[in-house]
This record gives sequence, C-alpha cells and structure tokens, in this order.
Amino acid sequence: MLTSKECMNLEAQYGAKNYKPIPVVINKAEGAWVWDPEGKKYLDCLSAYSAVNHGHLHPRILKAVEEQLHTLTLTSRAFYNDRLGRFLKRLCEVSGFDMALPMNTGAEAVETGIKIARRYSYEKKKIEKNKAEIITAYQNFHGRTTTIVSFSNDENATHGYGPYTPGFKHIPFNDTEALEASINENTIAFLVEPIQGEAGVIIPDEGYLKKVRQICDKHDILLILDEIQTGFGRTGKTFCFEHENIKPDILLVGKALSGGVIPVSAAITNKNIMDVITPGSHGSTFGGNPLACAAGEEALNVLLEEKLPERSHELGEYFLKGIRKIDSSIFKEVRGKGLFIAIELTESAGGARQYTEALKDKGILAKETHVHTIRLAPPLVVEKDELDWALSVMKDVFPQ
Ligand SMILES: *Cc1c(COP(=O)(O)O)cnc(C)c1O
Repeated sequence: MLTSKECMNLEAQYGAKNYKPIPVVINKAEGAWVWDPEGKKYLDCLSAYSAVNHGHLHPRILKAVEEQLHTLTLTSRAFYNDRLGRFLKRLCEVSGFDMALPMNTGAEAVETGIKIARRYSYEKKKIEKNKAEIITAYQNFHGRTTTIVSFSNDENATHGYGPYTPGFKHIPFNDTEALEASINENTIAFLVEPIQGEAGVIIPDEGYLKKVRQICDKHDILLILDEIQTGFGRTGKTFCFEHENIKPDILLVGKALSGGVIPVSAAITNKNIMDVITPGSHGSTFGGNPLACAAGEEALNVLLEEKLPERSHELGEYFLKGIRKIDSSIFKEVRGKGLFIAIELTESAGGARQYTEALKDKGILAKETHVHTIRLAPPLVVEKDELDWALSVMKDVFPQ
C-alpha cells in the first residue's frame, strides 16, 4: 500500500495542478468518517462539496449499485433500458415536476438547462434568433465548461479561457431591483443558486426567492435554479426553494442525486418546456445509464425514508449554535442553513487555509473557499455526539 507521501508525490508528478488539496490522502470511508493510509481517522466536513449527503458507502445505495453492476451497466440511449424510466419517475415525484433530462455532471445539467431555456424562448416566445440573454449573479458558481465560465467572475476560473460565450449578463446576488432593472426584450431567464455555495454559503435575505419568482412571472422569463449543491437535504429541506414555497421553471440537480457514488445529474422541468427538446437535439453517452439510475433511485428513497432533510435542519441549527458559542476573536460571521454552514474569518486572521490545515491535523476535514471562509457541510447522517466532538476540536483550533 502506498503511503500518504507517496500518493501526494505521484499526483504532483503526473497530475495537472488544477487543484490545491489540503495535504491529506483518503483511502477509505464510512458514513461521516474517512481514513488516511496511515490509519488516521477524520470527520468529513466537506462531503465532496455536498455530493456525499447520504454518508460514505451508504449500504442501501451500495446494494442497489452492486446488484445493477452485475446485471447491466451501460446501453447508451440508442436503446431503452429498464432503469431509466423508474428513476426519472421517482425524481419527478420527489421534485414535483413533470419530466427530467438525465446527464452526469453538474456542469452538464447547467448546460442542459441553458439549452432548454434558449430553445423554449426561440420557439415559444419568438425571441429573435441568437439574441437570447440569460441573467446570472455575481460570485456564482455553476461549473467549469467554457460556456459556464463565460458567466463567472472568478478570475481564477476564467483567466486565459476566452473567447467567452455571449448571451449572459451579471447582476449582484440578493438584489431584486437589479434583476428587474436588467430585464430587456431579449431576456429569457434568470439562472441563480438559491444559496451561493462556492462563494462561501452566501444566504440571501428572507423573501428574496419569492420576489425573484414574482419578477420572473411578471416579465415572463424563466427562473432556473441551480440546486446542484443545495439540493437533496443540504439546507434542511429536500430543495432549498421549499424554504420560500416557490418553484423554479427549471431545476438543476447533481452531486448528491446519487449519494455521491457515481456522477448523476439532471435538468428537471415541466412538459410544456421540456417539449422543445427533440430527438437528436441533446444527449450524453453515459447520461441515464442503468448503473447511475439504480444509484439515483435508491439515493432518493434513502433521502426521504431516513428523513435526511429533517436531520439536516435539526442538526444544522444545533451545530450552528455551537459554533457561534465558540465566539472566537477571528470569527467575522458564522452563518448557515441546515448543515450548510460557513465561518467567515476576519481579514486580520490571515486567511482560512492555516485553520483548515489545523483542523485537518486534529481530525476534521473542511475546505476554505475564497480565502477567508471555511465551509462546514458534514454528511447528513452525522450524529449529534460527532458534532459535539467537532465543536470541542474547533474550540481548540480557533483562538479566543
Ligand atoms: C458543483 C457545482 C456545479 C458543478 O458540478 P460538477 O459536477 O462539478 O460539474 C454546478 N453548480 C453548483 C451550484 C455546484 O455546487
């Protein structure tokens, strides 16, 4: 077996340096815990960017995948398979929409949402050819394709990748006046995360989404919600939009859709919108493959039967309260919804990285985002006493 050092050296020698990982190697996991090759155990407080909401190696999801693995794994969509329809039915039941288009990664779900919105607006709203505009929010994160980074304002994510795809505008997040002011005759949609994850768990004012919904209705533009990180229980509801009793026109999901076992994503909408997608107009070799569908269907069942959204709500409030009680002198703000929590440090703390590394040394894995913020998002199966342990560790790591 390779040591941690050997694994890190191999990656450094043969891998593109598109990440700067916390220096820890994970070689096995179970539930909320992961282990390194030397046998040291860590509480996972990132959950693979909220893909592992169900906990690592959830036995029911593994069983479904294992059975499928020995039956049928890939057909392509040149043919039907016996798992896709029942998976999509379950996904539509859980989300409350008519139809879904299955893809693999989150970025592909976003691309799919953009395609659906554009086609819909050209065919059903008679927008002039190639003029459709989609409004997005500053500090957004929607993925890494060339089109998606075209509407990112993260210099790291965009530098050197031009020319950028036209047809996107930016407005400040959490600003409904800016949204209304930016709409013109070519505007077809507003694409937004209900809580901005990568930006540092930025939670908009209460009522923001409701007002956004009203504005989109008033101007007849589509609301596309990217719930790839916030979906499937992370914020204390199955979907974050439920907190404000609204529904988007197009819902984008990924990450925890499979419980983090294999990549599964989807763009979900109603029939009158999905109807613009015709044979040959979009697709993916692996999208809707039977193995992914088996994982996705069981992950949805587990999510609801184990009441993971409710757990997230209760444990999130408990954890948030506990972190606020630590009341470190370097805490600028502690915020969260469900088990989606961020600690923003003061500028004088000198960056979050030294603290994520110190947490790692003491057995908690978390990742800094945007220099000063630490995101805490443990698997939703985490136990209260495990959170108590994490709080005691954090008390040692953050200065009084
Ligand atoms: C992770 C993420 C994506 C991209 O998903 P990938 O699977 O990495 O392509 C898109 N949107 C949001 C909000 C995300 O958190």
